[in-house]
Amino acid sequence: MTEIIKEEATVNENGLNFVEQEIVNDLAAGKNGGRLNTRFPPEPNGYLHIGHAKAFIMDFGAAEKFGGTCNLRFDDTNPQKEDTEYVEAIKEDIHWLGFDWGDRLYYASDYFPQLFDLAVRLIKEGKAYVDEQSSEEIARQKGTPTRPGENSPFRDRPVEENLDLFYRMNKGEFEEGSMVLRAKIDMASDNMHFRDPIMYRIIKTPHWRTGDQWKVYPMYDFAHGQSDYFEGVTHSICTLEFVPHRPLYEYFVKELADESYCPRQIEFNRLNLTYTVMSKRKLLQLVKEGLVNGWDDPRMPTLRGLRRRGYTPSSIKEFVKKIGYTKYEALNHIELLEHSVREDLNKTATRVSVIQNPVKLILTNYPEGQTEMMTMDNNPENLEEGQHEMPFTRELWIEREDFMENPPKKFFRMSPDKEVRLKGAYIIKCTGVKKDENGEIEEIYATYDPETRSGLPGADRKVKGTLHWVSAPTAVEAEIRDYDRLFAVENPSAEEGDFRDLLNPDSLKVRTNAKIEPWLAERIKAGDNYQFVRLGYYVVDPDSTPEKPVFNKTIGLKDTWAKEMKK
Ligand code: ATP
Ligand code: MG
Repeated sequence: MTEIIKEEATVNENGLNFVEQEIVNDLAAGKNGGRLNTRFPPEPNGYLHIGHAKAFIMDFGAAEKFGGTCNLRFDDTNPQKEDTEYVEAIKEDIHWLGFDWGDRLYYASDYFPQLFDLAVRLIKEGKAYVDEQSSEEIARQKGTPTRPGENSPFRDRPVEENLDLFYRMNKGEFEEGSMVLRAKIDMASDNMHFRDPIMYRIIKTPHWRTGDQWKVYPMYDFAHGQSDYFEGVTHSICTLEFVPHRPLYEYFVKELADESYCPRQIEFNRLNLTYTVMSKRKLLQLVKEGLVNGWDDPRMPTLRGLRRRGYTPSSIKEFVKKIGYTKYEALNHIELLEHSVREDLNKTATRVSVIQNPVKLILTNYPEGQTEMMTMDNNPENLEEGQHEMPFTRELWIEREDFMENPPKKFFRMSPDKEVRLKGAYIIKCTGVKKDENGEIEEIYATYDPETRSGLPGADRKVKGTLHWVSAPTAVEAEIRDYDRLFAVENPSAEEGDFRDLLNPDSLKVRTNAKIEPWLAERIKAGDNYQFVRLGYYVVDPDSTPEKPVFNKTIGLKDTWAKEMKK
């Protein structure tokens, strides 16, 4: 579990991962009449995260690739935890990644009548019984993998009594927790899931779709395979923790299926990412306790968090392709995800000038009141993206970190008496500074060389450093939210103790006086990605107003992953 894999997971000689190969084999063998139907089965009890994306990219992706269909099925079998708020959000997030279920939207609750009928049939056939023991007692009797379980004293109840009790359970005559319906299989089975698993429990909370029609609700193992069957699903792809459930899946499905059609379950490894948690329960806790600013907090691994952070659908798909689908658990480096978004945005993001930690630069020999328009490439990686103009004036903003009064040897930015180039403009030479009473630099003075304007022959003169800048009189003030890892440790799920104690206390830094060039200020639209030259990739946050644009930092320019791979 803690092993971190660096290599890209391999596909086979046909360019297929092992799940796809299984599908291709089944289709070639003519199984299920040559039909392919997958499904994505989220439980509407939270927002989708990037692990879910890995799952539904497989479900929808395989259907697309091999001419099948993919159902979206809400696994709404527990009214205590589920909500329609989540249903809408889940649909939106799947659409965001570019997938669509067409008219194949289903709910497990649609099958409550058929599932109930099947349970009644199994009772009549002596394959299920009502157990009146407490859940603690049932758990105690379950045994261990090396020690067989014990039979419940209610195991051999007569069929008529079981039927009567099951109907009355569903009428609401008994309290929650007072009885369950169990499959009568084998308390000594090597597979713990076969030791008389619970099929139904009593829940009195009304269901958001079926109201108070039902007082008994099916457990996952009794609902899932049958729902697949009722829908015509052929390949039920899920994660590795369901491997031990597979025999039970097959056991129940056999009660319905025949040779002409039978769904099968295939399992792949979950996505786990360093410096984050993927459990819905833990993510919900972070939201509820205000430890993050909601499900769409840009530090969250949720799809809406990633979207607000500036991740693109294609970067997420590319990442999932890189990590692949395997049969062994792994922990993936978050740097690989960052690498994917960086690669994507490098191709597409418009370059703009922004100063995040401004200090004033005054060009003492530049005419007061003069403005020249300097031409900037929108994307040097793709010149078809065109150019835009940026005003150049006597007073400019530059980054405070780009100036040092007493620089070390290899400092090629600005320092007294040294020349640097202002990107796309002139070569300048620093002549002095003004400090406030605390010794903090308030203004930097320099002279510019008119012969060195970009495009003129004098611009060829060699200087070591190039700085970005923004014209002071036309700059617009903006807020920049800078994010770091949500957790301070690499694998929070592997640590003892409370996971909340492992949160990184410095995961959000806000700068409120960044200066952005006017061309950018004119086109602020939430969700738009930019590269701030020399700083990184940023996205416009929905909190932006025309007066105060707000940006989230997606990721810096430096690729730590590429470095990691070279080691
Ligand atoms: P829980 O069941 O604990 O509420 P869950 O994350 O498994 O949480 P589901 O709504 O049941 O939530 O998940 C829907 C599908 O997404 C399942 O098929 C599940 O296997 C898959 N899935 C969930 N987490 C991951 C993950 N980290 N990586 C890959 N697939 C995942
Ligand atoms: Mg689940």
